Amino acid sequence: MSLCHTLWTQTIDIVDVSNCHKECKMLAKSKIEWAINETLSMKGAARLLGCSYNTFKKYAKMYGIFEPLPSNAGIPKSNRVGVKPPELQAIFNGEHPSYSQSKLQERLIREGYCVEECSNCGYNEMRASDLSVPLILDYMDDDGTNKSFDNLRLLCYNCFYIMKGSRLKVDIPKSVRGFQKAVGNLFSNES
Ligand SMILES: [Zn+2]
Repeated sequence: MSLCHTLWTQTIDIVDVSNCHKECKMLAKSKIEWAINETLSMKGAARLLGCSYNTFKKYAKMYGIFEPLPSNAGIPKSNRVGVKPPELQAIFNGEHPSYSQSKLQERLIREGYCVEECSNCGYNEMRASDLSVPLILDYMDDDGTNKSFDNLRLLCYNCFYIMKGSRLKVDIPKSVRGFQKAVGNLFSNES
C-alpha cells in the first residue's frame, strides 16, 4: 500500500469518526479498554461509549483488543449494557471469589495497586504486539479464589514457572512441550 493511499485511508477514518456520536471523536485505546472492562460484551462496550458497533469494532481491532464472545449465551439480557464492575476493595475482601483473573490483573495495574513488573525479578519489558508486560497474576497460596490483596502478586512467565510450575502441575501446551524436548535434546547431545 502506498503512503498516499495510507494517508487517504486515514483521512477517511477521521471523517468517519466525526460523523459518529460526539463522544466517539477520541476512541483512544485506553477508552476502549475501559469500556470493555465495564461491560460484558463488545456490543455493550460500544453502547457504553455511545458509538456505533462498527466504529467501535474498527478501533478495537486496530488496537488488537477486539474479543467478541462466541455468542450472547450466558449473558442475561438485562445485563448486556453498562454493568459496573465490583470495586477492587470488595474483591480483596473476598466478595467476588470468581472474578475474572485477567480483568483483576489488568485493573490492579490500571488502578495503581501493582506496578507492571515481575514482583520477583523486576522484569518489565513491554511486548511489541500489545504494549503490555507479559505477566501472570499469581495467588501466593495457590488458591485462585483467595483474592485478598496480600495473596496477589505479578510474576513474569519465567519466575512463575520456576517458582510455581511443578507445584501447580501447570499444563504446558504441546508446542511448548515440543520446544522443551528440543532444548533438552540439544543439551544432552552436547554433553
Ligand atoms: Zn520474574
